[in-house]
Amino acid sequence: MTITHLLINGENVAAQDKRTFERRNPVSGQLVSTGVCASTQDAQNAADAASRAFARWSATGPSERRELLNKAADALEASRVGFTQCMVNETGASALWAGFNVSTAVGILREAAAITTQVTGQVIPSDLPGNLAMALRQPAGVVLGMAPWNAPAILGVRAIATPLACGNTVILKGSELCPASHRFIVDAFEQAGFPAGVVNFIIHAPEDASAVVETMVAHKAVRRVNFTGSTRVGKLISLMCAQHLKPALLELGGKAPFVVLDDADIEQAVDAAAFGAFMHSGQICMSTERIVVDTTVADEFCERLTSKARELKASPEGSPIASVVDMATVVRCNALIDDALGKGAKLLCGGKASTTLMAPTLLDHVTAAMRIYSEESFGPVKAIVRVNGVEEAVSCANDNEYGLSAAVFGRDTARALRVGQCIESGICHINGPTLHDEPQMHFGGVKNSGIGHFGGQSGIDAFTELRWVTLQTTQRHYPF
Ligand code: NAD
Repeated sequence: MTITHLLINGENVAAQDKRTFERRNPVSGQLVSTGVCASTQDAQNAADAASRAFARWSATGPSERRELLNKAADALEASRVGFTQCMVNETGASALWAGFNVSTAVGILREAAAITTQVTGQVIPSDLPGNLAMALRQPAGVVLGMAPWNAPAILGVRAIATPLACGNTVILKGSELCPASHRFIVDAFEQAGFPAGVVNFIIHAPEDASAVVETMVAHKAVRRVNFTGSTRVGKLISLMCAQHLKPALLELGGKAPFVVLDDADIEQAVDAAAFGAFMHSGQICMSTERIVVDTTVADEFCERLTSKARELKASPEGSPIASVVDMATVVRCNALIDDALGKGAKLLCGGKASTTLMAPTLLDHVTAAMRIYSEESFGPVKAIVRVNGVEEAVSCANDNEYGLSAAVFGRDTARALRVGQCIESGICHINGPTLHDEPQMHFGGVKNSGIGHFGGQSGIDAFTELRWVTLQTTQRHYPF
């Protein structure tokens, strides 16, 4: 068993106090990784190292950064087999989802490599004669990126790739649930030849999260913070950042509505709903959580979706649906099922589980009185709400504290688009699933799903300082 170390200033570091924590496979219970418990001093050291590396890294040209980011993409691609095995062992995910993680993460790195030449500015007309006024984008400083376990490669790479492309140095804070998977990312940057201190890595014991994170947020060189995770912890991070006046990009929970209008292509809608609801056992922030279906097509839609869901068997090997991450997920989902059935919902398939291999579960006739209507299951348990007409569909979709992704199905695409425009979410797909991510797209939620965007120009905006710089080219006249 190898130990997952911290990476500080290019050195593998054991914790100051030599403590470690364990991660066990959620299906077998076997020990799969041992991680070093960073102390607040380690966190301070990581931020110091990133701070020291900033002057040189921020002065590199775009071609140098692009070449290194492309090399990191190559190195991550080369580690596909090892990474996939590690992620499957640590998180219980299917090999399909783990492999998709590698491909998407490699794509994010290549997109980041491409944007190194897109960090541009503007010349703005000035009223002052002879004054050349510019809006310049410059690297911000040290960026702290924090990533969760559910898509370790995608979200770990997303937390640091654009910041690095823009000339910042970074600290990646990995998850306690997949320390070794997150370490693969950092190893890819090491193999690519990033200079010492440009990419640093911190992991810690669960009970140390608050102290370790606050040490880094408070560090004077840390100028941007990004966090992907639950809304509960996102609010805590937001408070920390407010106290230290640090901008925070927050990508948080979701309760994605999937709207089926009366003229939807039912076959297409069923395929998209099943994929969006059950891929990775529903443990994706964009997962379809609340299916909102017009009563005129509800019986046919539910019957077809149920038979498709029944075909999906959760298995640790060879199935697109594998284990959920832990028994806490099983307990949470079981409680949501009990609550819904106790209040009159109808179980169409699946049901309560006693292991982490949970069957896809559909609950029909869900009402606002049931917890599953509003709470994120983050598991394979999905609510179906029947509505009458477009207005009711929109108001049900928006009766939601979250607003990350959404989908609308309808053959009258102009009407479906109008419905989509009325839904309060950062992302909405017409005649497509709620699950869809591409590195160049603006990715972010509204309401309790977060603040800010990764991807495209938004990522550059988030991780650079916008400055107003002038050059006076003629003699200036002063009143005295
Ligand atoms: P989580 O918020 O429970 O944990 C995330 C991390 O927060 C942990 O690794 C932990 O180290 C840290 N943490 C815990 N307590 C802390 C504290 N007091 N101070 C500072 N840090 C603390 O989330 P999770 O279970 O790892 O991930 C699941 C959640 O993430 C879901 O809600 C999901 O919707 C969301 N998510 C969102 C996106 C997105 O892009 N919007 C993507 C993936 C997951």
